[in-house]
Amino acid sequence: MKILVTGGLGYIGSHTVVELLEKGHEVVIIDNLYNSQKATHDKITAITHKPSTFVKMDATNYEGLKQLCKKHQFDGIIHFAGYKAVGESVAKPLMYYYNNLLSTITLARVAIEEGINKFIFSSSATVYGDGVSPLNEEAPLMERTNPYGETKAMSERILTDVAKANPTLNVILLRYFNPVGAHKSGLIGEVPNGTPNNLMPYITQVAKGLRDKLYIFGNDYPTIDGTGVRDYIHVVDLAKGHVAALEANKTGVNIYNLGTGKGTSVLELVNAFMSVNKVNIPYEITSRRAGDIATCYANVNKAKKELKWEAKYNVEDMVKDA
Ligand code: NAD
Ligand code: UDP
Repeated sequence: MKILVTGGLGYIGSHTVVELLEKGHEVVIIDNLYNSQKATHDKITAITHKPSTFVKMDATNYEGLKQLCKKHQFDGIIHFAGYKAVGESVAKPLMYYYNNLLSTITLARVAIEEGINKFIFSSSATVYGDGVSPLNEEAPLMERTNPYGETKAMSERILTDVAKANPTLNVILLRYFNPVGAHKSGLIGEVPNGTPNNLMPYITQVAKGLRDKLYIFGNDYPTIDGTGVRDYIHVVDLAKGHVAALEANKTGVNIYNLGTGKGTSVLELVNAFMSVNKVNIPYEITSRRAGDIATCYANVNKAKKELKWEAKYNVEDMVKDA
């Protein structure tokens, strides 16, 4: 298939482009390079030895997208482009609503007008809020605590309504749990600008000596050791989940959790990182982070059954590749 990948030079997008190319799909990437580098495109080529096209373009650029779609006749769109920093979204809500919603609306409009009938969207487990784990796709969506999460829930709603009104458009909403790790080549991975918000990039920066210690946000949660529990998933498994979703030929609107189904606490992850990589990670327990929940992990039966996909990598693989 010929696929338009928005945000395809970012962390999850670049790994997905690699998997698409490895499976023989043709890929055109658009990215505005807000949170990525053009050099990542060369690295994708170095890993796969397969050509792909990169166009520097904003996913809200209706005219540009129309031209690109007319030229390439895409079979599908995988839409990763967006802003993702929770704290920043609280400080700059308009920036988040504008980019994350307008890109989704513009791409859906172009997909319908140009007869592109597969649309895969990057959603997040954040839409479940503080729901009870293991979370399945039928779990009610809970109140979001920040504009970023709200853009994911709103984008899901927009795409669902648009697909209902336009039965030729088939939408897959993928709710990611906690993507971590990197491609085995070490050429692509997660390189956040500034201070990392997420746990794994913070740990890797401490390991590299860029930061003195990790701050663990609370050890008084009702979990195995008091620290927060999440469902970490290797980014390569996550990337393969997109290929499975694309190839599954589902019609209408379908929602899938992409996780491993297993919960890991902060301390368990830190200890695994130290023992597998034989490096010390000094840490200090501090107070809880506002908006954090105790536990979040997926029920992954639906993706297993309908997409014939499941995560293969374990926590040891994740901390090694990270
Ligand atoms: P990322 O920032 O590494 O990648 C996003 C890419 O989109 C970047 O390369 C950025 O330059 C580009 N981009 C942003 N706005 C754009 C626009 N208007 N037009 C064109 N390009 C634009 O982030 P990621 O971790 O790869 O996340 C990809 C998607 O998955 C995002 O939608 C994110 O919200 C979602 N998601 C991520 C996580 C996570 O933990 N990483 C979890 C759940 C969902
Ligand atoms: N966390 C932490 N220190 C950090 C970053 C995160 O203790 O510097 C904890 C956080 O409280 C949560 C877990 O690690 O329990 C995962 O946080 P992350 O931000 O990576 O993902 P999310 O909260 O979005 O699931």
